Amino acid sequence: MLSVSNLEVVYDDVVLVLRGLSLEVPAGGIVALLGANGAGKTTLLRAVTGLLVPHRGRITKGTVHVDGEDITGADAADVVRRGIAQVMEGRRIFAEITVDENLRAGGYTRRSRTEVRESYARVLDLFPVLAQRRKSVAGYLSGGEQQMLAIGRALMARPRLLLLDEPSLGLAPRLVEQVRDIIAQINQQGTSVLLVEQNAAMALSIAGYGYVLETGKVVKDGPAADLLADADIREFYLGAA
Ligand code: ATP
Repeated sequence: MLSVSNLEVVYDDVVLVLRGLSLEVPAGGIVALLGANGAGKTTLLRAVTGLLVPHRGRITKGTVHVDGEDITGADAADVVRRGIAQVMEGRRIFAEITVDENLRAGGYTRRSRTEVRESYARVLDLFPVLAQRRKSVAGYLSGGEQQMLAIGRALMARPRLLLLDEPSLGLAPRLVEQVRDIIAQINQQGTSVLLVEQNAAMALSIAGYGYVLETGKVVKDGPAADLLADADIREFYLGAA
C-alpha cells in the first residue's frame, strides 16, 4: 500500500533529518513507527503527505509509492485525493467552530453528498461522544474528545491509509485504551494504518509490524510480537528493567 524507499529529507537545505529511510505499510495492516523525540517520525509523515514545504523541508533522495504509483513530492491536496489522510500531532482541530463543522470540513474533497453523509454517520457511530457534542465549539472539548474529533475529521475523507502522529500523547490511560480500540476498529473496517507513537506498548499491542527510527534511519524492524520481546526495546521504549 505505502512504500517508502531510501528517503532523504533536508530542512533549510542543510539539516539532514531522514537519512535513507525505508519502510512498508501493507494493505490492511497496522504498522507502528517508534522512536525518541527528534528521530524524524513527524518528518516522515510530512514527506508522505506533501507537508514538508511549509516547514522548509524537501526530499533530496528516495521515493514514496502508494499502490505502486510514485507520489514522491506530490502536494498535500493530491495526496488526500489518493486516499491518504493524516492526523497531526497535537490535535489540530479548528477550535473556533463546532464539532459538526469540523467533521464536514474533513469531507471537503468528496464529491458525492451521499458519501459524505455516510461517512458522517459512520464517524458518529465510531465516536458516540462526538454525536453528543455535535453542536459544541470544538475548542471546549476535553483533550480526549479533541483527539477523537481529529481522527474523526480525517476519516471523513474515507482514507485507504491513515497516518496518525502520536494519538495517545497527553491522554489519560483510559483514553489511550479507547483510542487504541478505535484505531483497531478503523483498521478492521479496511483502512491501513501507519501509527507513530512514543507509547510503544500501545502501538505494538495493535500493530502487526513495527519500525524503530533513530536519527533518521530505521535501526530495527520486525513483527510487533518480536519487537515486544526484544531486550533493547523493552529497556528503551517499554520502560522494563
Ligand atoms: P517528535 O516526537 O518530537 O515530533 P520526531 O521523531 O517526530 O520527534 P521530527 O519532528 O521529524 O522528529 O524532527 C526531526 C528533526 O528535525 C529534529 O532534530 C528537529 O529539530 C528537526 N526539524 C523538524 N522540523 C524542522 C524544521 N522545520 N526546520 C529545521 N529542522 C527541523
